[in-house]
Order: sequence, then C-alpha cells, then structure tokens
Amino acid sequence: MAIPKAQDLAAWAATRTRKHLETDRIGRLSGFGFTKHADGYVYRPSTLEEAREVFEIARSLKRQVVLRGAGRSYGDANIGSECIVLDNARMNQILDWNPVTGVIEAECGVTIEDLWRHVLEDGWWPPVVSGTMYPTLGGVLAMNIHGKNNYCSGTFGEHVLELEALTPSGQILILTAKDEAFWAVISSAGLLAMITRVKIQMKKVHSGDLRVLPLAPANWDEQFAIFEQFEGIADYMVSWIDCFGSEKGAGRGAFHAAWYLDEPSEHPRTLEQSHQDLPDTIMGFWPKSMVWRLLKKFNNRLGMEFINWSKYASGRILGNGKPHPQSLVGFSFLLDYVPNWRNAYLPYGFIQYQSFVPKEHAKRVFAQQIKMQQAAGLESYLAVLKRHRPDKFLFSHAVDGYSLALDFKITKNNWPKLQQLCHQMNDLVLQAGGRFYFAKDSTLRPADVRAYLGEEALATFSRFKAQFDPDNLLTSELARRVKLV
Ligand SMILES: Cc1cc2nc3c(=O)[nH]c(=O)nc-3n(C[C@H](O)[C@H](O)[C@H](O)COP(=O)(O)OP(=O)(O)OC[C@H]3O[C@@H](n4cnc5c(N)ncnc54)[C@H](O)[C@@H]3O)c2cc1C
Repeated sequence: MAIPKAQDLAAWAATRTRKHLETDRIGRLSGFGFTKHADGYVYRPSTLEEAREVFEIARSLKRQVVLRGAGRSYGDANIGSECIVLDNARMNQILDWNPVTGVIEAECGVTIEDLWRHVLEDGWWPPVVSGTMYPTLGGVLAMNIHGKNNYCSGTFGEHVLELEALTPSGQILILTAKDEAFWAVISSAGLLAMITRVKIQMKKVHSGDLRVLPLAPANWDEQFAIFEQFEGIADYMVSWIDCFGSEKGAGRGAFHAAWYLDEPSEHPRTLEQSHQDLPDTIMGFWPKSMVWRLLKKFNNRLGMEFINWSKYASGRILGNGKPHPQSLVGFSFLLDYVPNWRNAYLPYGFIQYQSFVPKEHAKRVFAQQIKMQQAAGLESYLAVLKRHRPDKFLFSHAVDGYSLALDFKITKNNWPKLQQLCHQMNDLVLQAGGRFYFAKDSTLRPADVRAYLGEEALATFSRFKAQFDPDNLLTSELARRVKLV
C-alpha cells in the first residue's frame, strides 16, 4: 500500500476541518450581563491570514460568524447561536508607538488596559475610555465607545487616524476619516467587517492624577444645573443617581467633575504604573476578590435602597465640594475596583439599559423613567448620568444631551415585567427624539431601531453590507433580534 505524502495528509486534514467544525471548539458564551447565552465554534486567529481562513471555513460550511472581543458588551451583541465565533484575543500586538507624536498602532485584540500601560509613562493617555479597561480595540470601535468626556472629546472613533479591516469576502480595507466606509465600519456592531489594526492619536498628559471635585446634588434640578455649570470647564463629568429617591429627593446623587493637571501633582511619580494600579483591598482590609460575595448579600431591593441612600448621605457629609487628586485609572475605571462584581447578580444576571435624550427633554424623560421603575417595583440598583455630543458615525448612539445608564437585576420571575418596563421607557425616549446603544442593549425591538437609526442610515448600512459581506456571514444575536441582518 502506498504511504500518503505529508502534503497530501495536510490537504486531507484541511478538507476535514472544512466539512466538520471541530466539536472541541464549541464554547458557551454570554454577554457581560450573563442573561443570554449561545453556543458557538470559537476560533482565535493570531494573524490576518488566519482570520481570513476562518471566513473561508464559514463560507464553505454555510455558517455565520460573530466577532467577539473581551465580551464586555452587556447583552447579545457578541454572541451568535450556532455561529463561528471569531475572537480577537490573540491578535493583541502593539505594532508601533511614537512617544513624541503620541500615535500608536495596534491590533484589534489590544485592550484599553494594554494601551494605557504602554503609553502613560511617556506622558500620554487614551483620549476616550469606557468605565472598564478590559474592552479590546475591535469591540471599542465596533461600538464606538464614549467616556465621561464625551461632551468635549467625542467618541473613540474620532481619535482614529487609520484603520485596517478585513471584509468577510476577503478584501482588506485601509480607511481614514476621508472614506465614507470609515464612518460606517466604526459603530456598526461588528456587522460589516472585522477591524484588524488601528492607528490612534493618544492624549498628552502631564500628570497621572486628575483633580476631582465631588458634589452631592439633592434632586433633578440640582443635577442638571451642575452639569450645565461645568460644561465647557471640566474635562470629565459623571453623576450617579439614586433610583430609590422620590418626591423632593428624586434625582439625588453624587456628581464628579475632573480636570487634567498641567503640572505634575504633589506625587512626583504619578505617571508610573505603580501609582495607577488599583489597590488589592477595599477600605484597607477587605480583599477585593471577596467583595462581590458581600455585595451579593445586599443585592436585593431593600439592600440596594440602603446602599444607594448611604452613598448619597455620605456624599453630602464627606468631601462635598472639596477637590482632591485621584489617579487616572482610579477615576476612569471605578468599576474595575471590584473584580467579578457582576457575579453578585448571579444566577439570573442583569441587563443594562442606556438611553440618550436631547438636552431639552432629558430631565423630564429620566425623571419619568425612574417614576415608572418605582411604580413597577423594579428600581435600577445602579444609575449613571453623563453628558454627550452628537457624532457622524453611522450607528451613532449619542445626541446633544444626556444619557442615563440603568442596571437591572434579573430574578426568576421578573423578566416579562422588566421587558415591558423597558419597552415603555423606549417609547418615551423615542418620542423625545432620543437614541440607544447596542453595547448596552437587551430589549430593543426592530421598530425601535428603525425609529432611532432612521431609514437613511439603514439604507447606507444595507449598501455597505452588500458590498463587504454579500453572503451575509457577519451576524450576532442582537442583529438577529432587532432584524439588522
Ligand atoms: C463595566 C463596564 C463599563 C462600561 N462602560 C462603558 C462606557 O463608559 N462607555 C461605553 O461606551 N461603553 C462602556 N461599556 C461597554 C463596552 O465598552 C463596549 O461594550 C465594548 O464594545 C466592549 O468591547 P469588547 O472588546 O468586550 O467587545 P465585545 O463586547 O466582545 O463585542 C462588542 C461588539 O464588537 C464586535 N467586534 C468585536 N471585535 C471586533 C472586531 N475586531 N472588528 C469588528 N467588530 C468587532 C462584536 O461583534 C460586538 O458587536 C462598559 C462595559 C462594561 C462591562
């Protein structure tokens, strides 16, 4: 019997993998909120060529593909049932860094954490960051994230000088702001092409600390008055809202404005990583890894009403109106202080609901949203208010106004009622000319998406979809749910 040659065996092996996806690639994945799960075949290419091969396998096996970064989108944008999952994790090289110009070039799997760790000691900082440092550049640009400086610095996409993207049909796109496709690929929730490499302009900083001013607004009027007072003055603004506050206390919370420091602060080595690293303990003694277990005990209506009230009350007494220095990492990534905090929502998980409302209507709509939650007995346990500005990206979520992000715990029985509440809140937002954000969504209906994106944006999306992904390979559970593909 003739012994097969090595190259014949390799060709045979290649045809086998194309006929049958290997079952040991099957992984059960979920969004950050643990509410929706999907089984998919996970591939983690480490080069553009390998990524292209994954698209070829998908085409030959008639499987759809979902792109995935660090899985930090809350809902179902990063999962796809029965799909091939094309994961960024191993395309994680920083390719070039110029500490004089502050321009960095990196692959899609590089995270926000990798970025700041690479550039801060040279006096640079990512121009826009999310409330967590774990998202990858692919995910960051697919959603076009905003930070607490959205009203003055725009979205992450506005700081991209060039990007490279691989279309499912195998074409490599090099895009800059001069190209129409640049404005579509960024923000299109991973449905047009895989972003593989990005060149970004970092922001110059002279200190690793910010000057932070805490204030404790007592109601909605004070909240919005403070935002207006610091607009155009502060580099960052964010406020937490106590959703259990009612009547005169409705809208109370904890506002923070922050400024970059032009001169190095009293701490001479603030740009060093050791100054930035988050502490291992909370309040000096609680090991951080234990905190979510403690949080879980309070993670019910009564416990959260108490926590929200104590946060507001302590904010009125401690430090109110007194500026203090805080590290860039400490201020920016507050939620990363508590590892695995989302486990406190297990076993059923949680959703985040974030709506963006024009400034003329924001106070009325958000106050109404919270009244509706209280009437339904479904108060959000964590609510965050931010100021935004509009941008030109195709699936933009931002408006000249405010957003309110609301975390809702899922229990054994509350999903139908919670979904109904979210749909009612959607109606309010749409009537006010507001928008939504796919990174945070779990409840939008196809009609809601058509209403806020508009027919023109959807037609442009369909045109690019036909051009870059004619076989309709790229999808996600979100895209299927809201009928985007
Ligand atoms: C605690 C927390 C705080 C957050 N705070 C903020 C905030 O302040 N502001 C904000 O804007 N967002 C915030 N987010 C949301 C988060 O920044 C976004 O969901 C971001 O997209 C997550 O990136 P990821 O790498 O985890 O991507 P994933 O969640 O895995 O994927 C997100 C989307 O990107 C697509 N995608 C992934 N890789 C690629 C690629 N290479 N090319 C093209 N598409 C791709 C996926 O298909 C999916 O549609 C927060 C999330 C958490 C968990």
